[in-house]
Amino acid sequence: MTGTEWTITATVLAGLFGLLIGSFLNVCIYRWPRDLSVVRPRSCCPSCLAGLLEKAGIPLYSEDAEFEEAIDAGEFARFAPAARIAWYDNIPVLSYLLLRGRCRRCGAAIGWRYPLVEALTGVLFAWFVWHLGPTLAALKFCVFAALMVGLVFSDLETLLLPDEMTIGGFFLGLVFAVLAPRTGLFSGILGLMGMATGLRAGSLVEALIGGLLPAGTIWFGGWLFEKIRGKEGLGFGDVKMLAAVGAFLGIQGALMTVILGSVAGAVIGWIYIKVKGEDAGSYQLPFGTFLGAAALYSALAGNGLLNWYARGV
Ligand SMILES: [Zn+2]
Repeated sequence: MTGTEWTITATVLAGLFGLLIGSFLNVCIYRWPRDLSVVRPRSCCPSCLAGLLEKAGIPLYSEDAEFEEAIDAGEFARFAPAARIAWYDNIPVLSYLLLRGRCRRCGAAIGWRYPLVEALTGVLFAWFVWHLGPTLAALKFCVFAALMVGLVFSDLETLLLPDEMTIGGFFLGLVFAVLAPRTGLFSGILGLMGMATGLRAGSLVEALIGGLLPAGTIWFGGWLFEKIRGKEGLGFGDVKMLAAVGAFLGIQGALMTVILGSVAGAVIGWIYIKVKGEDAGSYQLPFGTFLGAAALYSALAGNGLLNWYARGV
């Protein structure tokens, strides 16, 4: 194969793999905020499951008022196999189209989130492999894309940002800083001072500062807001999410994410409140959704791809 043929093949494979990862993300988005295992049982239709529980006289209880369909983990494991989705009805994007967005058994509508998350993850994986080749650098951005897509839709649906993806993402960012090193503002300064010798050490320092400094700053801002205004301005999940973004994209990427995410969140949130006639005092903006979209934009178009060393590593 020529170089171009190889890149095209790798891009197609990455896109297909992204569809599968997107399918897994859909499971995580539903189960992690409900503290359910993402491994067992296999995928099931929530509305078939609700029907089975109702028939058995088991009420769907809710620990958290925000969760109308929170399910007890034990009952979930017991009843889910009977509500299982067959493999041929669980093919990313394709099954949704063939089934015309409805469950084969109960006919309930399947959320548009399912094919959207799958398609989005597939396109992002293909994009990064197309631009960076089949490299560790591309793997790093694919992992980052999966984390952001997961967080965007978790926050949109449940107003929760699971620690698995925020704190887990921060540590993955540190690992990739060593595996696929990059230079940035701080590693450059430290290198000039002769402090962080070597590309990997400098890259790790960059990821640590990028992860902790912007996140620490907005945490402090939120704490101050709470002291002065006496109401919560920012969820701690957003702070942890920004730490993950900074560990992957460095300090410039994290700053770009905060600025873009805040502006987009303020504008779109304001429009939403006006159009829907929501009460501005009690409306809770899924800020993580905007942070995630801004972080993906930064990774695609911002300096996430600039200063990039690792193409040949
Ligand atoms: Zn069903």
